[in-house]
Amino acid sequence: MVYDHLSPEKEKKLVFLTARVHPGESPASFVCQGVIDFLVSQHPVAQILRDHVIFKIVPMLNPDGVYLGNYRCSLMGFDLNRHWQDPSPWAHPTLHAVKQLIVQMSQDPRGSLEFYIDVHAHSTMLNGFMYGNVFENEERVQRQAVFPRLLCQNAPDFSLSNTSFNRDVVKAGTGRRFLGGLLDDTSYCYTLEVSFYSYMTAGSTAPVPYTEETYMKLGRNVARTFLDYYKLNYLVKCKGPTHIQSSEVTFRTSGSSAKGNSIVTDTDTEERSQNIRQTDRLTQTEHA
Ligand SMILES: [Zn+2]
Repeated sequence: MVYDHLSPEKEKKLVFLTARVHPGESPASFVCQGVIDFLVSQHPVAQILRDHVIFKIVPMLNPDGVYLGNYRCSLMGFDLNRHWQDPSPWAHPTLHAVKQLIVQMSQDPRGSLEFYIDVHAHSTMLNGFMYGNVFENEERVQRQAVFPRLLCQNAPDFSLSNTSFNRDVVKAGTGRRFLGGLLDDTSYCYTLEVSFYSYMTAGSTAPVPYTEETYMKLGRNVARTFLDYYKLNYLVKCKGPTHIQSSEVTFRTSGSSAKGNSIVTDTDTEERSQNIRQTDRLTQTEHA
């Protein structure tokens, strides 16, 4: 049994998060910490999310690589993010176990595994951004773009222009690509990348170096974006936006705000998005 605490009469959505498959990408741990801190907090948004969504989080997929101080590989020299298709319990034990769990959860009729997000850090790009999958079905492509768009409204350091969707052959063994093919077409799989060094926001004239705190803030913004998503999709009934907005005290930081259940196009957001689009076009190399 994967989730015995799930009462049969109340179906919950499932969100699966992994981080640190690449051991040198330590910013991913701070982002993941921000997600966890928010979800276990007394923040009203977190309380609502816990009522409707089950979050499964594996904060460190490559602990032996982290222990050894490796940049990309495990103890045995494998880049685990190229072995999702056929992980060995002997050579890739953490990956094997997590894959088994995800497959088991995806087949359980009592819950619906809707999101898989794998957190990485990027060595050449600015800001936070996502990679997603490419599908033939245009409607699915559009649905896949919803979460990054909502996140862009909540996180001033998240860049939609850096966000892209691909199906490169070389990425076939990544978690995002493999699970995108495994899970049904109502599921969404993303790689969440965050810059190793800086981000640009509206109004800034120079890149702002990331800190542990701003990495964790991105994680908190990722977590609360799930409420926006599930309000849009009617899993969570909106009791009035003021309830959520007025509660943005504990974790509120400059530039972020709760946007209720609509895709907001306020001036600040538009301006911010345009500014990011103009400023973060560095050489794009995907390392995920
Ligand atoms: Zn990576």
